[in-house]
This record gives sequence, structure tokens and C-alpha cells, in this order.
Amino acid sequence: MNLILLGPPGAGKGTQSKILEEKHGYKQLSTGDMLRAAISAGSDVGLKAKAIMDRGDLVSDDVILGIVAERLGKPDVSNGVVFDGFPRTPAQADALDKMLEGRGQKLDAVIEMKVDDEVLVKRISGRFTCAKCGKGYHDEFAKPTAAGVCDACGSLEFSRRPDDNEKTVRDRLQVYNKQTAPLVDYYHKKGNLHVVDGMADIALVTVAIENVLKGLKA
Ligand code: AMP
Repeated sequence: MNLILLGPPGAGKGTQSKILEEKHGYKQLSTGDMLRAAISAGSDVGLKAKAIMDRGDLVSDDVILGIVAERLGKPDVSNGVVFDGFPRTPAQADALDKMLEGRGQKLDAVIEMKVDDEVLVKRISGRFTCAKCGKGYHDEFAKPTAAGVCDACGSLEFSRRPDDNEKTVRDRLQVYNKQTAPLVDYYHKKGNLHVVDGMADIALVTVAIENVLKGLKA
């Protein structure tokens, strides 16, 4: 099963991709995570991407398509993939169709997660993660039980993404509305778009996504 979770930054794509990966074994393929790993590793791709990501713009289609093609060549994606944060432009969507076709596969569904802009700004500006195990928290909605201590691993260190500040979040939303939102229409015309309410609680969003998957198998 190959799925795309489509939606603006902060819609919950990462959270739901991880749940899908755990439940069904479809691999989460997050281009944002891959770029952040490249930055940490100090690779050429990372060096090129850092300044672009820090200001909330999109990394070039060439760079993104290169890392996606390489990732799809690994054996652990044979059960299927949940694309998280990819594709983000019509050129990427087109290239993905061709990549899947070349592998004798298809896109099974595109699930759009809809969330209002002001909710997204609040969600993203407050989020942080444990620097050791990666568990996600929020200043307001999901604080660690004991202040300053990770619930999952006990670490005292946390980190925030440099692009998760209010100014950059607003820029990222503008970029999404201009460059990525046209994909909603693109997939609607292809007949594989499904819409879920991303404003609902995490568990309810998971149920809505599961219902889409059941509908595909029926
Ligand atoms: P994300 O973690 O998905 O919010 O992505 C963080 C940043 O990485 C974005 O603001 C872009 O600068 C870059 N990025 C991630 N995925 C893509 C993509 N598919 N195309 C272009 N840039 C991307």
C-alpha cells in the first residue's frame, strides 16, 4: 500500500505516519526528516538544504527527487510507503507517479489532512522533542509529566526545530498554500483523494484514516 499524507506543516502527518508504520508496516518516508538527517551528517545535500529550510522555502525538486529515489531503492519499503511531506510540488507529484510506475506499483490513496492556519501556527510554534528519543511534546497541549524530564526515556535534553518559530511557520504556510495546495486538485482529478478532519483528536484522525484504508480494501 502506498499512501500520501497531504497537508500543511503541523497537520499531524508525522504523527499519523508513525502510527501507520507501527500498525501496518508501511514505511514512513519523510523528506523533512531525511533532510534534517543530511544536515546533521554534514553531507552535501544537507549543506545545500539548511539555509533554505531555515527560511521555510522549498528545497529544489532535483535534490528531493534524488533522495526519494535513493530511499525507494532500499529493501525495507517492500510493504508500502507513507509519504510524509512529499510530494510538495506538481513536478514532484508527476515524478512520483513515474517512479512508482517504474517499480510496477501505484499510489493507493492520498489523504488530505485539513487544519485551519491559526491552529497550525499555535501547534507548531509550541512543539519540541526529546533530544535523545525523539518523543514529541508541546508547550501547552502535551507537556512532559515532570517538567523538564522526558516521559519516555528520562532525558533532560530537548530540542526545537529552527524553522518552528512563528515567523517561519507563517512563511511555510504561504509556501504550502501556493506550491503544494494545487496538488489537492491534481489528486482529486485522478480520483484518489480522501479528506480527513485534521483538527480532531489524534485518535479520531487515526480512526478516520483507518476508515479510508478499509474503504480501499473493500
Ligand atoms: P517538514 O519536516 O516536512 O515540515 O519539512 C521541513 C522543510 O524541509 C520544509 O520547510 C522544506 O524546506 C524542506 N522539505 C521537506 N520536504 C520537502 C519537499 N518534498 N520538497 C521541498 N522541500 C522539502
